[in-house]
Amino acid sequence: MRTIANYIDGELVGPLSGRYLDNIEPATGAVYSSVPDGDERDVARAVEAARKAFPAWSAMPAEIRTRLLLTIADTIEKRLDDLARAESIDNGKPITLARRLDIPRAATNFRFFATAALHARSESHATDTRAINYTLRRPRGVAGIISPWNLPLYLLSWKVAPALATGNTVVAKPSELTPMTAFMLAEICREAGLPPGVLNIVHGRGQEVGAAIARHPEITTVSFTGSTATGADIAKNAAPLFKKVALEMGGKNPTLVFADADFEAALEGSLRASFTNQGEICLSGSRIYVEQERYASFVERFTERAARLKPGDPLEPTTEQGALVSSAHRDKVLHYIELARRDGGRILCGGGVPKTPVSERCRAGFFVEPTVITGLGMESRVNREEIFGPVVTIAPFSDEDQVVAWANGTDYGLAASVWTENLPRAHRLAERIASGTIWINCWMLRDLRVPFGGMKRSGLGREGGEEALRFFTEPKNVCVQFPPEAAGG
Ligand code: NAD
Repeated sequence: MRTIANYIDGELVGPLSGRYLDNIEPATGAVYSSVPDGDERDVARAVEAARKAFPAWSAMPAEIRTRLLLTIADTIEKRLDDLARAESIDNGKPITLARRLDIPRAATNFRFFATAALHARSESHATDTRAINYTLRRPRGVAGIISPWNLPLYLLSWKVAPALATGNTVVAKPSELTPMTAFMLAEICREAGLPPGVLNIVHGRGQEVGAAIARHPEITTVSFTGSTATGADIAKNAAPLFKKVALEMGGKNPTLVFADADFEAALEGSLRASFTNQGEICLSGSRIYVEQERYASFVERFTERAARLKPGDPLEPTTEQGALVSSAHRDKVLHYIELARRDGGRILCGGGVPKTPVSERCRAGFFVEPTVITGLGMESRVNREEIFGPVVTIAPFSDEDQVVAWANGTDYGLAASVWTENLPRAHRLAERIASGTIWINCWMLRDLRVPFGGMKRSGLGREGGEEALRFFTEPKNVCVQFPPEAAGG
């Protein structure tokens, strides 16, 4: 059984408490490794190491930092098979998805921000003929990074890479449910020759390690991805210290299918949006609204396709639906299905755990069938709250105002997909829907340069491209007055 270690000051070390948590394989329900049950003392050590490393790392020419980060990207790619297998075992996701999406994207995150830092510019503002202002952008110091379990290495690297590329040092905390690839990243950083203390990874529970990061006075910047409830707690802890905070939180994303849409494309797109990664993606489209005249045929075809997405052993290359991350999360998802029944919803397919085990090995795994529900109004909690599982509702709509009201009718505002061939309508809806990302005739088509984040209770701040480079730096304006003769007397 592999024992995961913290990564502090360049060393792989155990937690000061000497305590460990069980790390469970969701597909089997069995403990397969142990993870440090860290606490604020480990965070304090990590912050000390990061603080010590900051002067040299921030003063290093960007080109050298870039080279180190590119080596990390290359090593992630070289270890694709190992990392994808580890991610699949740790999270329950299909290994094919980890190979195709999670791990390549982690390498891309490092490469993207490593090279972006080489092209960074800053502004200058001429004040008539009297003065010139220029903006210095400097790294902010020690950044705290807290990431979730659904896309473990993908989302951790999405934050670590820009923080390091801009010259900050980092104390990171991956989810205690999926710590393995972060541990492997620590090994990769050591191999790549990243100087000690530049990246530190402390494992443990959110209320201990995560809260200690939010509260530590030397951590001036906190970037978090996870649930809205945790985001609120982090904001509360960080606010009295006036930290710069970015929060990427939950979603309850609508998919709008108009009668004039390319029907097959809309069907395939909404199916992917509903069930990729077992619906455990903040961007998942978990409420589908279909224009009345196409509703019946859409529901029939969609349900037939969803029913074919059978859960299976995540390590089998043919599996499209893996296990949910934990028994507690499976129970939460099942609870929402029960709620749908009580609210009068019709379960068209799925609706529970698979009737027969997906395989002998996975007999005790945390599987839920892809579930399609109709007949629920906006008042149902199933249509308002984030379920974060393979559960989708479908409802018919009759006009644009109605569907916009439904799309905007939750506390969230992360992403929306609109399927239509009517271009003016597409632009109009992009304007009217309150969410950080609007996809027209697509879903989860990502360009790393664009601003990424949510409105309302989905987020605070934006990540991606320039936004991330700005978040992890402090702008300082320098105003230089011209001598009177240069200013024309
Ligand atoms: P979570 O909020 O339970 O945990 C996220 C991280 O925060 C973990 O590392 C956890 O240990 C830590 N944490 C927990 N309590 C804490 C506390 N009090 N203080 C500091 N840290 C604490 O979320 P999760 O269940 O791991 O992930 C699922 C959630 O993440 C969903 O709501 C999903 O929508 C959201 N998510 C959002 C995005 C996005 O970009 N907006 C992306 C992925 C996931």
